Amino acid sequence: MKTAQQLAAELVRPEIRAINAYHVAPATGLIKLDAMENPYRLPEAVRAELGRALADVAINRYPDASGAVVKTALRDTATLGIDARHALILGNGSDELIQIVATTLAKPGATMLAVEPSFVMYKANAMLAQMRYAGVPLRADFTLDTDAVLAAIGREKPALVFLAYPNNPTGNLFPLADIERIVAAAPGLVVIDEAYHPFAQVSFADVLDAHPNAIVMRTLSKLGLAGIRLGYAFGDPAWIAEFDKTRPPYNLNSLTQATALIVLRHADMLNEQAARLRRDRDALIESLRAMEGVEPFPSAANFVLTRVADANATFARMKGAGVLVKNLHGWHPLLSNCLRLSVGTPDENAAMLQALQPAA
Ligand code: PMP
Repeated sequence: MKTAQQLAAELVRPEIRAINAYHVAPATGLIKLDAMENPYRLPEAVRAELGRALADVAINRYPDASGAVVKTALRDTATLGIDARHALILGNGSDELIQIVATTLAKPGATMLAVEPSFVMYKANAMLAQMRYAGVPLRADFTLDTDAVLAAIGREKPALVFLAYPNNPTGNLFPLADIERIVAAAPGLVVIDEAYHPFAQVSFADVLDAHPNAIVMRTLSKLGLAGIRLGYAFGDPAWIAEFDKTRPPYNLNSLTQATALIVLRHADMLNEQAARLRRDRDALIESLRAMEGVEPFPSAANFVLTRVADANATFARMKGAGVLVKNLHGWHPLLSNCLRLSVGTPDENAAMLQALQPAA
């Protein structure tokens, strides 16, 4: 009888055999500034309200498969600016929506295109969906090389393009006019990934009606709700209807749906937290600029990409001092000696700066 190991070696797709599972760095006991989470927890009163609401959820039943009540709550949240003409789809995090969109458009031979460096799950999902993948490098300062993207679109004719606005891990916001040129030239669907929308305060949603081949994707993760896994995307109902066919029927569990309803009633509080993080991000960039041998890049997100002299050594020293950030050295040639610093509370940011460059 063959062992499970032998069978797996024989049967699992070779490209999946070749990769490792997504690694999440252990953070116990460390100040966690590696994953762009919101450092602020819900206020006591909201937690109590949430506790009561969650106690009432009928978890013996399957969740509402359509997520209709959550969709209405998202539409009713004015700051999200979701137009009544657009349909909505909900995902178990926007990670799942990336997978759903890729699966839906993965005709044999179809290509996905993205800029690099960008969010790693785009390329990962091209592989999972068996799409061809074309990466177009950003310029050395991480600005968008629009002509190179347009040339690649002409060459590759991608069925699907992902553009993060602002981009992760670089933090910058590509010019809206350039994104519109790319969307206008693309023969396929362009997903504008606005995961960092609360910190950018601009949105492609404002011009979505002019672009039938684009949809906007967002997440509640960076708004203080990373733990509930709720992403959403909106656009022309013709797109959303197709994506709904590849969405697992009960992808949004009842506790997530109930939590979203309660917390969205307190959208003002979330927006205030985001405003605070924007101010603290700008202060963090100022402090980094004043440091010798440290080069922060502009950010419209809740993190700051920063080049240092020796990222491996700095990362290790910061971890030794109790601060976990993300070391991007080795991820992409353009990211050499780069660290990604999430914005935390003022105390956490001070500890991070101290660990980054201890006073002599
Ligand atoms: N898009 C971008 C650009 C991201 O940076 C992230 C998370 N880091 C995601 C999507 C996925 O977010 P989530 O699955 O938590 O919604």
